Amino acid sequence: MHHFEYRDGKLFAEEVSVTELAVEYGTPLYIYSAATFKRHFQAFDSAFDGLDHLTCYSVKANSNLSVLKMLAEEGAGMDVVSGGELFRALKAGVPAEKIVYSGVGKRASEIREALAAGILMFNVESQAELVKINEVAGELGKVAQISIRINPDVDPQTHPYISTGMKKNKFGLDIENSLKAYKMTMDMDNVEAIGMDCHIGSQLTNIDPFLEALDKLLAFYEKLKESGLEIKYLDLGGGLGINYDEEEPPHPTEFGKALADKLADVPLTVILEPGRVIAGNSGIMVTEVVYTKSNPTKNFLIVDGAMNDLVRPSLYGSFHRIGEVVLHGREVKEYDVVGPICESGDFLARERELPGIEQGELLALYSAGAYGFTMSSNYNSRPRACELIVDGDKVVVARKRETYEDLIANEL
Ligand SMILES: *Cc1c(COP(=O)(O)O)cnc(C)c1O
Repeated sequence: MHHFEYRDGKLFAEEVSVTELAVEYGTPLYIYSAATFKRHFQAFDSAFDGLDHLTCYSVKANSNLSVLKMLAEEGAGMDVVSGGELFRALKAGVPAEKIVYSGVGKRASEIREALAAGILMFNVESQAELVKINEVAGELGKVAQISIRINPDVDPQTHPYISTGMKKNKFGLDIENSLKAYKMTMDMDNVEAIGMDCHIGSQLTNIDPFLEALDKLLAFYEKLKESGLEIKYLDLGGGLGINYDEEEPPHPTEFGKALADKLADVPLTVILEPGRVIAGNSGIMVTEVVYTKSNPTKNFLIVDGAMNDLVRPSLYGSFHRIGEVVLHGREVKEYDVVGPICESGDFLARERELPGIEQGELLALYSAGAYGFTMSSNYNSRPRACELIVDGDKVVVARKRETYEDLIANEL
């Protein structure tokens, strides 16, 4: 459910015409719907009302400061994966005690920043990291609260690049090494184990892998108790999928209900780290057709948005639904929708059926709110796009379009 709808054949973001926004702010243009963001957050969060829980939005999905502020106001905690994301979350007013910090390569400086802020916990991904956290916390005279990220070795049945909970992935520790790590904490003065963590992958369209991972963690929880370790938190990560094309991902309430059944007698506070399911369908990217061109086998729409703006199709072969911003009702043709970048991998869609599109017309790429702008770059010296938040009939520039001067601002 989102708030990008046609009125009399013209696409609107909430109460505002997308064409008017494109004229005023230029293209390529990211447009987010505040109502959709809030609604997705509340729908997700309330799905776990039966459980003592904390929803920590995964900042990397969409880290725009205005987006983070909006979610913080809705009560979200945050999951960060870098010092930069921690900085953003704190700037957005997220209370430090609602922040968890994941990631395989936390540097000492980042650990120091997180300890100074007083975050809830570090999700630790190696024994070496544990040693480093103990050392840094010791220097600061603090005790770091941690959980170990357990790699439960389950197949999330998603794209290999976004599968993270299998033995071959770089993330977390296998069950045996996790137990060793927890035992290490018992001899550490500046680390306290307060939780267990896992995150098995992204864009999951079935809850079974989550439940399989949960079973493994609950068995592990018994082992921890036998070892004399009492923890308080069970972090199940993010990963719930969304509808890009024809997927039918489970509704969060289905996940919430399944968890409530399994955790009825388990005295742990559950942490969830949703990213895509909150942000994905809360945003679109609007792009203008610069040229059209056909050869005997292909019709190309050459648009002003490219892989530097939205890399998911190039990186993962992902599907983004594309629609006209103004419906013309022309005859359907098959197109490759490509950007201006000098790479054959620069495409937004291939062999896509669209109603006939003409030069100068606008297209909307749906489901671009997550891993869209955050994965953008300046490749080919393309200034990054503008990000807008539409809230009813109000429009906020959440990030101005970059200028050529911005491109060279940090260069000598
Ligand atoms: C990316 C990530 C998430 C969010 O994943 P989604 O699929 O966007 O929900 C949550 N936790 C961790 C540790 C992550 O790396």
